[in-house]
Amino acid sequence: MNKSRLPGEQSVVLIVDDDMAERLLMRETLRDEALVVEEAANGEEALAAFDRLSPDLVLMDVKMPKLDGFSACSIMRSLSSGQDAAIVLVTGLEDFASISRAFDVGATDFVTKPVNWPLLRHRVRYLLRAGKAFRNLRQSEKRLSMAQNIANMGNWDWDIEKNIVYCSSQMYRIFGLPEADNFPHSYEIFMQRVHRNDQNSIVQQVRKALEAKTPYSVDYRIVLPDGTCRNVHEQADIVTDEKGKAVSMHGTVQDITERISAEEKIRNLSYYDRLTGLPNRELFLEHFNRALYAAQRDGGKVALLYLDLDRFKRINESLGHTAGDKLLKQISVFLADSIRSSDVLAKTSPAGKKDLTISRLGGDEFTILLTKLSDESHAGRVAQRILDLLSQPIKIGSQDIYISGSIGITLYPSDGEDVDTLLKNADVAMYHAKETGRNSFQFFSEQMNKRAMEKLSIETELKKALEKNELLLYYQPQIDLKSGKLAGVEALVRWQHPRLGMVPPGLFIPIAEETGLIVEIGRWVLAEACRQSKQWQLAGFAPIRMGVNISSLQFKHQNLETLVEEILQQTGLDPHFFKLELTESAIMQNVAQVNETLVALKKIGVKLAVDDFGTGYSSMSYLKKFPLDTLKIDRSFVMDITTDANDAAIIKAIIALAKNLGLSTIAEGVETQEQLSFLQEQFCDEIQGFFISRPLPHDEVERFFVNGQTFF
Ligand code: C2E
Ligand code: CA
Ligand code: CA
Repeated sequence: MNKSRLPGEQSVVLIVDDDMAERLLMRETLRDEALVVEEAANGEEALAAFDRLSPDLVLMDVKMPKLDGFSACSIMRSLSSGQDAAIVLVTGLEDFASISRAFDVGATDFVTKPVNWPLLRHRVRYLLRAGKAFRNLRQSEKRLSMAQNIANMGNWDWDIEKNIVYCSSQMYRIFGLPEADNFPHSYEIFMQRVHRNDQNSIVQQVRKALEAKTPYSVDYRIVLPDGTCRNVHEQADIVTDEKGKAVSMHGTVQDITERISAEEKIRNLSYYDRLTGLPNRELFLEHFNRALYAAQRDGGKVALLYLDLDRFKRINESLGHTAGDKLLKQISVFLADSIRSSDVLAKTSPAGKKDLTISRLGGDEFTILLTKLSDESHAGRVAQRILDLLSQPIKIGSQDIYISGSIGITLYPSDGEDVDTLLKNADVAMYHAKETGRNSFQFFSEQMNKRAMEKLSIETELKKALEKNELLLYYQPQIDLKSGKLAGVEALVRWQHPRLGMVPPGLFIPIAEETGLIVEIGRWVLAEACRQSKQWQLAGFAPIRMGVNISSLQFKHQNLETLVEEILQQTGLDPHFFKLELTESAIMQNVAQVNETLVALKKIGVKLAVDDFGTGYSSMSYLKKFPLDTLKIDRSFVMDITTDANDAAIIKAIIALAKNLGLSTIAEGVETQEQLSFLQEQFCDEIQGFFISRPLPHDEVERFFVNGQTFF
């Protein structure tokens, strides 16, 4: 390769002539600080020197022994390093044949003998300067080409009048066209490679640019002959003549396929849920915002369905997270497939699929967005369809898993105008659906919102209720059915709220359980019940059996037996007069651990009752195994005893079962004489209910303690 000389460097001139005198003359003529002059005496020597020196200019006589000037020139030109040097042949005769031969073999110029020496000096200077400029141009072209290679970029020039496109080799490569110097391509040939759907936008951009004489940039796709698709970015500008007429355009085209696919990957990572492949919260919010914007513009309706799986946590805990993940994946698949393909949607909106987006917000929460809703009731239909789908068993491994969901629905614009409000209200409605018994859907209502707000304020105020001494206990008498005498009392917590008045436990106990506050409240209830018992004894009443409700959370988060033991010891009460009421659902979870706790409690000497019996699912084998004393028949069965044969039968069965297991029975919620009589006939042991007394403050319940009295 030719040495590229640095600017300011000396140029090398090779003089070739078999006549030493001629060489001397030439050397003298060319003497210059900027030149290094070398000599060769014949064609062969010239070739060797040419190879060694890479001269910028060769001044060569054509008539020489061994190898003449024509041949030497021809050989020099055929060398890869021989492209750039200027070769000037010195011909003896100014005949046309020699001159044309000189150019045929690749000479840059010629001079005739006798040489006009002063003129030669200038000609050499000129050729050297031109050579340098040419070399620089070649160099920068090479650099440009390298840069274009790296950037995957090509450039083009379009002669508008002649409709010829000149372009760099990268340009041909990008468009998958053969590179052809002798065959300039037309605008249309390039256009044929552009993706059909993108052609229009280019045509329009070009037209606009030509009209306005302004540059443009456009992204489009190119389809290669093998069918692969590439993304390119094009930038172009217009060249005008003196009259302002557009004569040509020039521009660059950059292949940005890799960048686009990398961007897509990043987008996928940040916009789609990794587990299920559904849009994630981020993308959902984007969709939602866009849907609201469009609805606002077109006056349309949008529904948001907020789905939360029921008891998913339990599945996760009992079957493991891998199974939980699989379940979520399966649910996502059939949510996406089944809802989309279902006819519900077709009826929901004429555009169908496009107007529905399913996203996973995280955990077991999903959202379904319905846009262009013609009738709000369709949202309910979609919700019902989802619940129906969910109710089918899902196979994870060899296991059939049954799951249900609760759905809250909010509507734009009636339930809110912005994403935050609608999302919050959907959440409120979803919770309401859960409260009303799961596996259902609920439309949001303002009233729910009020309740949710109330709940929130209860939550914050409940935290302070204990410190502020706002909790107190009421006591409800329990009567022995055989004797009609007092058997004990059940302690029921109350919250004396300064503003709301007496708050019933049904309102704050579930919140206390949700927030974990129940642990502290439960501890206080136990201590207070003991303190009251002790006080009654000190007041002279015979020891009274005290029933205390225990929440399932107290089982999990407290060392219950230690707590009970400590409290009993502190007050010096006889444990036999203490009865803990445990709900059926609480003791049927974590049975191994529950059994341990029950055994330990039993050892202390306290009595154990199963509260709300009949409402949950008791396993007979555990009922037999657990060291229990009493089954407490739930109020819901007692209520219709005398009118509903079914309930009567259930109560009979419970009493028979209890007898069989050696347990006593107590019926709660007894409100009438008929109910009492029925229970008496069935040999139920005790009753409790408004028929005897409502729960009463400590000083009022004392009237039941008077010895020997009967109550019916
Ligand atoms: P529970 O343990 O089933 O308590 C019986 C509930 O039935 C009490 O409601 C009582 O007032 C009510 N009741 C009693 N007799 C009748 C009747 O004849 N008719 C009607 N309609 N209702 C009757 P209360 O006091 O509102 O308590 C509700 C629930 O709150 C309790 O149900 C219990 O689960 C919970 N709870 C109350 N106090 C405590 C406590 O100290 N700790 C815990 N963990 N839960 C408590
Ligand atoms: Ca109870
Ligand atoms: Ca109960």
